Amino acid sequence: MNYNKKSVEDIDVKGKRVLCRCDFNVPTKEGKITSDKRIVAALPTINYLREHGAKVILCSHMGKPKGEFKPELSLKVVADRLSELLGVEVKMSKDVAGEDAKRLAAELKDGDVMLLENTRFIKGETKNDPELSKALADLADIFVNDAFGSAHRAHSSTAGVADYLPAVCGFLIAKEVGIMGKALADPARPFVAILGGAKVSDKLNVINNLLEKVDTLIIGGGMAYTFLAAKGYSVGTSLLDEEKIDYCRDMMKKAEEKGVKLLLPIDTVIAKEFPNPIDGPIEVETVPSDAIPEGFMGLDIGEKTRELFAEAAKSAKTVVWNGPMGVFENPTLAKGTIAVAQALADSEAVTIVGGGDSAAACEQLGFADKITHISTGGGASLEFLEGLELPGIACLQDK
Ligand code: ADP
Ligand code: MG
Repeated sequence: MNYNKKSVEDIDVKGKRVLCRCDFNVPTKEGKITSDKRIVAALPTINYLREHGAKVILCSHMGKPKGEFKPELSLKVVADRLSELLGVEVKMSKDVAGEDAKRLAAELKDGDVMLLENTRFIKGETKNDPELSKALADLADIFVNDAFGSAHRAHSSTAGVADYLPAVCGFLIAKEVGIMGKALADPARPFVAILGGAKVSDKLNVINNLLEKVDTLIIGGGMAYTFLAAKGYSVGTSLLDEEKIDYCRDMMKKAEEKGVKLLLPIDTVIAKEFPNPIDGPIEVETVPSDAIPEGFMGLDIGEKTRELFAEAAKSAKTVVWNGPMGVFENPTLAKGTIAVAQALADSEAVTIVGGGDSAAACEQLGFADKITHISTGGGASLEFLEGLELPGIACLQDK
């Protein structure tokens, strides 16, 4: 995939209607936004477009309404917050690309901003239905994609619409692609990847591609137990993807053939049960990874593993991290994740963190500003690292 894409700075937007796909999939509680981080992150592109005389039509999905209008997933809360942040009224259409959207879009003056209703209120969105793509395109003259977190999906508002409009990226996607594209294309070495977390099946696929690129691959978190099982260890009641045991065995072989160092936990923090509540008190002990007793589950990496992983991260020149090392929501089980975050923060390397929970962990622990780049996309950043073509980026014009 060519990562050298045109951005808003490479085209003339003055007087043009610009449809800008943002990631306004913000967390809400009882109808209130609990973090406006994603809205704030979209401001540079929106401000640039306004300052350069575009008529700005924003769109996004929120949650999973499955093609139906769901009042609790209306983007109205986002329009209100945007109005506050921009200091201008952001009008919101009652529909996605219907009569109301058309009317409001036609009324826009240069520098005005409006927001379409949740794109996933229409069934065609997630099916990349040409009818919806075309209706969206009819509202505008130019398409700008700035939703990195959705760029791995071929939906109408993320990719399909680019079949009908000249398409470029906004600043967020430009930054993501710039930093991660460079790290992958020509990484400063040693290049170390650290994988963890709980979405085992999703994430195991990335390993095959990473083994082509990295010098060291570190596996912790819930991911590790399928590997430990592949080594013939019993893993008790730990997270395990039985169908992937053979795959993990193949990956260990591939690592050896490629001369890639594959580091797995040498010791493990275990407990009888998953903590409930997740941050509640829990009784744990640490055992060697080949000695997890029957009826126990591994919930964090042990102290020796923390040292091993931190050492590898510290001596790297490029580090990519996706997925916590343990159930970091619980203070007793956060030590592995803290150790890795600390190692990245202390490292001189280019450090890239992807994945919602890993990013949250870095922020909660106060390490965020010591990381080179925290990606806004979990799934998207993983697929990027996997070397897959992201439809929301592939559809943009090359420079
Ligand atoms: P990310 O959002 O960074 O991509 P995931 O969503 O894949 O990461 O996984 C995050 C979750 O993984 C966290 O909620 C954490 O509690 C859980 N987790 C980490 N290690 C384990 C483990 N050993 N067993 C069960 N869950 C784990
Ligand atoms: Mg997650």
